Amino acid sequence: MMKAVGGTGKRRLGVMGGTFDPIHHGHLVAASEVAHHFHLDEVVFVPTGRPWQKADRTVSAAEDRYLMTVIATASNPSFSVSRVDIDRPGPTYTIDTLREIAAAGGPDVELYFITGADALSQILSWRDADELFTIAHFVGATRPGHILRDPGLPEGKVSLLEIPALAISSSECRERVSSGQPIWYLVPDGIVQYINKRGLYRHVRSSPDHQS
Ligand code: ATP
Ligand code: MG
Repeated sequence: MMKAVGGTGKRRLGVMGGTFDPIHHGHLVAASEVAHHFHLDEVVFVPTGRPWQKADRTVSAAEDRYLMTVIATASNPSFSVSRVDIDRPGPTYTIDTLREIAAAGGPDVELYFITGADALSQILSWRDADELFTIAHFVGATRPGHILRDPGLPEGKVSLLEIPALAISSSECRERVSSGQPIWYLVPDGIVQYINKRGLYRHVRSSPDHQS
């Protein structure tokens, strides 16, 4: 936890926010690639509370999404999971997440917020967009079906990283479960088992946007 790295001597902490409904190998590969490329000491996965962008569909219980994230990341010593968003009442805004993690980490932590290309292109519409860039460096990861281009964000505050294309989305996993198709190898084994055990996604309506 306290390892210091790089010329600045600061701990480099990646923050990967997501609904994780369910977490899948696209999320895990993206986090692993960013961690390697930016020499991060740790990546903390932060399941959202109520995602304000997803008010139109029913999201699984926070506790199920949290536990799936714990199960999926448990074997990696540099991955951890934070409850800050699911324990904070009201809709989740990234600015609150980053403020809370920055405050807990203290001045010796450098934050890297990891996000997919789809989310990055909307970032200027997020709450307190200007302040976001003062708290964290932003890393936009490619994901299949989304073109990675610089969305005109502040110079030096955003990096774009191409990661191996894994055309996996949580929406597709949910639809597969609901129609009886397998999700083996799209998600970690423990997630297949957890979804079965809890009976998740048996009756999902198909979402109009498979990629977001
Ligand atoms: P949904 O289909 O329900 O929108 P999702 O697969 O997009 O789910 P989220 O929890 O919304 O999963 O994603 C969290 C973050 O991970 C987002 O920044 C998203 O862009 C990124 N991400 C999701 N899937 C991939 C993937 N296959 N490759 C790279 N990044 C991904
Ligand atoms: Mg999404």
